[in-house]
Amino acid sequence: NYSVVLAENRKLHNEVQELKGNIRVYCRIRPFLRGQKEKQSVIEYIGENGELIVVNPSKQGKEGCRSFKFNTVYSPASTQAQVYSDIQPLVQSVLDGYNVCIFAYGQTGSGKTHTMTGPDGASEEDWGVNYRALNDLFKISQMRESTFKYEIKVQMMEIYNEQVRDLLSSDGSQKRYPLLNIKKKLPFLAFGLAVPEASMFPVNGTADVLDLMHTGLRNRAKGSTSMNERSSRSHSIVTIHVQGKDIKSGSSMHSSLHLVDLAGSERVDRSEVTGDRLKEAQHINKSLSALGDVIYALAQKNAHIPYRNSKLTQVLQASLGGQAKTLMFVQLNPEVTSYSETMSTLKFAERASGVELGAARSSKDGRDIRELMEQVASLKDTIAKKN
Ligand code: ADP
Ligand code: MG
Repeated sequence: NYSVVLAENRKLHNEVQELKGNIRVYCRIRPFLRGQKEKQSVIEYIGENGELIVVNPSKQGKEGCRSFKFNTVYSPASTQAQVYSDIQPLVQSVLDGYNVCIFAYGQTGSGKTHTMTGPDGASEEDWGVNYRALNDLFKISQMRESTFKYEIKVQMMEIYNEQVRDLLSSDGSQKRYPLLNIKKKLPFLAFGLAVPEASMFPVNGTADVLDLMHTGLRNRAKGSTSMNERSSRSHSIVTIHVQGKDIKSGSSMHSSLHLVDLAGSERVDRSEVTGDRLKEAQHINKSLSALGDVIYALAQKNAHIPYRNSKLTQVLQASLGGQAKTLMFVQLNPEVTSYSETMSTLKFAERASGVELGAARSSKDGRDIRELMEQVASLKDTIAKKN
């Protein structure tokens, strides 16, 4: 049924084209964890069209409500497979020559690593975006074998205190490597900023995917008391380099996919930390605001994009803006105690996506929050009656 496949392909192609130069913002809400007593969520409402209402636990009624709108909102019940199937066309477009960047933003404990990597020792069902993307690219490249010859290689790095470290070195040494401006033709590296010295490994099957991820994760946890502690203070970047050659025409392409698990976005109380911890916090702050500024400038279609303000934005430069496609997962922790961090995460995302909604605007749109709240209440009522 070739015509159906073609039509499907065209639809996919159009959807992906539409992403070009735009930033997609997908919001994902973490479930309450097992054993957690507190079950009251600050997320009051999740709409089908990416709407979200957050309620300030210390304010009553309409006063405390704030609405946001994103491309998609995933409820706590969403699965890894659902999330990946939505971004699959974006990942696949890397094989057509697009540079793509997918990153997860949020406070520590909001589910960034869950979305990007998945739980420790995850079964295939629990795989996060990194495993699925890498595996998918490898499988699709094999399917196209008769017309296109692809090679896929992977780097894994960490940015800690504005230094780029290699996470795939076999001896786990976490060597620091400079970010260089590539001006001559090098295998697997496009022109522009890259870390040519960091280890790079080919992917020839699912076993390689698992192996590489394992090495990277193990190296990342080194030298810190726990994986979580370290990962909340550094950005980890999996870079998938794709080189392809059209067998018939001989023309070749190069593209890359950056998958980024950002450092925790929580504000650190300066009066409470000193020394190394303060330095870390300042670096994180600086790089996350630099990322926000770059995305904002792109969304505003500004002429000047301030890539140079942090290592993070420099490393990602080729996959942010221009012809590249960018997707941000905004991770939320639904707990009442996280309210103020949740709000600051949402504001970051809102600014980045270049859309402002908010209470004032939404009532102007005629979709009063109170109206929505009433709808929620009546739906809850209906459900209660049914049960
Ligand atoms: P972060 O990387 O943002 O610090 P994690 O991904 O480590 O956060 O998530 C914190 C905890 O919540 C972990 O125990 C993780 O397994 C769990 N978790 C996060 N998101 C989900 C989810 N969607 N489903 C089930 N558990 C989740
Ligand atoms: Mg994490």
